[in-house]
Amino acid sequence: MAATLLRALFAAPACAYSSVMETIEAVAVKPSLSRTLWRGLLRSCPQCGGGRTLHSYLKVKPACSECGEALGHIRADDFPPYLTIIIVGHIIVPLLLLSERTFSPPTWVQMTVWPLASLALLLMVLPVCKGFCVNLMWHLGLKGDER
Ligand SMILES: [Zn+2]
Repeated sequence: MAATLLRALFAAPACAYSSVMETIEAVAVKPSLSRTLWRGLLRSCPQCGGGRTLHSYLKVKPACSECGEALGHIRADDFPPYLTIIIVGHIIVPLLLLSERTFSPPTWVQMTVWPLASLALLLMVLPVCKGFCVNLMWHLGLKGDER
């Protein structure tokens, strides 16, 4: 945050006073929890919503590419996988039971479809959960090394 302010102050020419003030206002005002969490679901920066929180698949960016907010110090550890397992389990298990009760497919179909569906859903939901957790931790001021 301070790095962003300093960068804006020293990089801007003297006539760009309004641009510096906009940067200061954008950095100084912390968005609401609901907005921060929504941005997390979209894997966007918790501060500005413009930059991405993650790069490659699950790595947290060191800083936002748009506003420069430091994000690399946040370590979500195992919470995103736990959250992903809970969400995917609550989707797959009822669908499995419903299909068994309704269609009663052969076992080989069940043994093929549900693991693949679970894997696909896990891979889709995990980055979303990671973005959500990182943004939640950012909003709460947590870094992941608290005891
Ligand atoms: Zn940002």
